[in-house]
Amino acid sequence: MGKKYFTLSFDDGLEQDKRIVTLMKQYGLKGTFNLNSGLFGQRGEVMGLGSFSFRDCEEGVRHRWPFSYVPHNRIPEDEILQVYEGMEIASHGFRHEPLKKLDEQGLRDSVGKDKEYLERLTGDAVVGHAYAQGSVSPAAEAYLKRLGYLYARAVFPSGSFEFPADPLNFRPSSSMILGNAMTLVESFKQAEADRDLLLCLWGHGYEMDYGKGQASWDSLERLFDAVAGQSDIIYCTNSEAFRHI
Ligand SMILES: [Zn+2]
Repeated sequence: MGKKYFTLSFDDGLEQDKRIVTLMKQYGLKGTFNLNSGLFGQRGEVMGLGSFSFRDCEEGVRHRWPFSYVPHNRIPEDEILQVYEGMEIASHGFRHEPLKKLDEQGLRDSVGKDKEYLERLTGDAVVGHAYAQGSVSPAAEAYLKRLGYLYARAVFPSGSFEFPADPLNFRPSSSMILGNAMTLVESFKQAEADRDLLLCLWGHGYEMDYGKGQASWDSLERLFDAVAGQSDIIYCTNSEAFRHI
């Protein structure tokens, strides 16, 4: 007999996380926030829906192109502990570096530096990572393993509830803004835990600001409401889920 773990995971440490954490607490949910400690307080905007990266541009700039822009403002360092209280803080690369092409020194300057900085700030061990832009390599995985990471999250959804065979290249079940998120929640609720199961949904706070389809605050709250309050589901952070197994 196994257990059912539900986790949420949000990247980049954005101002929108404040609203998300409030909602999560309201619904009794827990999760992991992957932060870039070299970019605390940085302000910018994101262009278009579903882009995996963001554009650094000053606030108040008049945009030349008719896309929708939403704020991508990062929480300043002196608010981090208060905002994420009760949640897991994990790394995401010191300055959001894609890891694929980095050598040992590059990995140290990205992951190593981020881990150290966050551990000094929180007083807790950082044991989880999210690959910026989903960029990973065998060298990066080996480096994380050496640093004692328990798991590292990639980007592309698996659509499944299986714990990954390789925890250092772990694909989330889905993204909160994908059409199948609600379907997965409903089938997770029905699923028989004949082995350990994990439903991990990831996203970025800014996506809710688009206010379109699944990428909206209303949809996010509907999702939280649907998954919450089940006696057979353990609501936890990614590190708690990976530690249990
Ligand atoms: Zn990111």
